[in-house]
Amino acid sequence: MNERQLKKLFMVQSKLLLNFPGVKHYFFDKNDVNKSLKVFNFDSFQTVDQVHGNRVTTINSLPFDSKGYDGMITKRKYLLAIRTADCLPILFYDYKKNIIGAIHAGWRGLSSGIINSLIRILMTKGSQSKHIFGAIGPHIGRCCYDVPRERIKMFGKTIDSDKLVSENRRSSWFLDLGKIAQIQMQQMNIQKRQIDILPFCTSCNKNYYSYRRDGSSTGRMINVIGLN
Ligand SMILES: [Zn+2]
Repeated sequence: MNERQLKKLFMVQSKLLLNFPGVKHYFFDKNDVNKSLKVFNFDSFQTVDQVHGNRVTTINSLPFDSKGYDGMITKRKYLLAIRTADCLPILFYDYKKNIIGAIHAGWRGLSSGIINSLIRILMTKGSQSKHIFGAIGPHIGRCCYDVPRERIKMFGKTIDSDKLVSENRRSSWFLDLGKIAQIQMQQMNIQKRQIDILPFCTSCNKNYYSYRRDGSSTGRMINVIGLN
C-alpha cells in the first residue's frame, strides 16, 4: 500500500494530525471499509472489545488482552483500529513521547470518563498535556442526535454550561457529543488548538454507517492510527 493508492480510498483526515510526520491516521468511510481491510490486512489491526466502558489498555506486545476495553495506547508500531457507526472515534498523539492512543466513545463512554482515563495513563508514562493532540472523527452530530433530557442533565453535572453542548429544537433535545469530548479534553489541560473535530455527521451523510439511521445490523467504519 503506497501513499498514492491510499489517497484513492474514501477517507478523511485531521489537518492537525497531518502536521506530524511521526504518525499516520485514517478515518475510512463505509465505501472503503472492505478495501481498507484488504489493503491493510485486518490481522495487522489491533482492536479492543468496545463495550461502551471507560477502560484503556496499554499494548506493549502481542497478543494482548482486549476484553472489556474501549481504548488503547501504544509506543510500538501497531495499527490501532476503532470501529464506529455514530459513536466517536478519537485518535491521540503525543509527539514528544511518540505515543499514540485511540478510543471508542459514545455517551456512555464520555459520561463515565474514558477521555480522562486515556489522558491519565499517558501522563503516568510521562506525557505532558501540551504535547498531546487529539482528533475526533466522524460521528453523529448535534444536527441529528436527539436524546432524552436526562442524558443532557447527566453531562450538565460535569460540564458547566449545557447550552454549549445541547439545544432544544422541534420540541426535542439535541446533544453535541463532539463538543463534550472537546470540553473534557480541555478539562485535562489540552488546549482547543490541540483538538480537531471533523465536521462529518454519520447520520446525515450516506457515506457513513449510522446505527441511528440504519439500525443495529448496520456495518462499522474503521478508524486507524499508527506510528511511522
Ligand atoms: Zn446530522
